[in-house]
Amino acid sequence: MREVNNYMKMTIAGYSRNESLARMCAAAFVAQLDPTVEEVSDIKAAVSEAVTNCIVHGYRDTIGDIDIRMKILDGDTVYIKISDKGAGIEDIAQAMQPMFTTSPDGERAGLGFAVMQSFTDSLKVKSTPGRGTSVTMLKRLDRRG
Ligand code: ATP
Ligand code: MG
Repeated sequence: MREVNNYMKMTIAGYSRNESLARMCAAAFVAQLDPTVEEVSDIKAAVSEAVTNCIVHGYRDTIGDIDIRMKILDGDTVYIKISDKGAGIEDIAQAMQPMFTTSPDGERAGLGFAVMQSFTDSLKVKSTPGRGTSVTMLKRLDRRG
């Protein structure tokens, strides 16, 4: 079992203007680990992609709750879980393929999951069509000094 050193949870309304709030709260929470500038920007980018997906794909033209949970594990690892109770994903493996998108207008690159994957050490996606989606990410920070 991993040691939980700290945790937080917050619920935001799925308005796109709350995306920067989520990103900034995530950065503020990890600040206690004295992360590098790069580690903070990786975490902000990953949170941003996950929250945007809840807003754009999970809830589409509706507004619902987005739950954000974060923990510090074993003194050096950031746990981030972001969930919605929206549309869900039919085929998770396909959705996670780089450049796959269900956005028809050519506005999206289909790279959100690729960003989450490359900026963290582990990414797990759970989803039930019609019930919602959760993404769980782990990022181990480099302990310096
Ligand atoms: P980009 O992130 O580059 O703007 P995108 O959002 O389409 O484009 P991904 O973030 O990689 O790309 O997501 C891929 C696909 O997975 C989405 O097009 C959508 O079909 C599905 N998806 C992702 N997150 C959710 C979610 N929270 N709820 C429902 N579907 C989702
Ligand atoms: Mg996306």
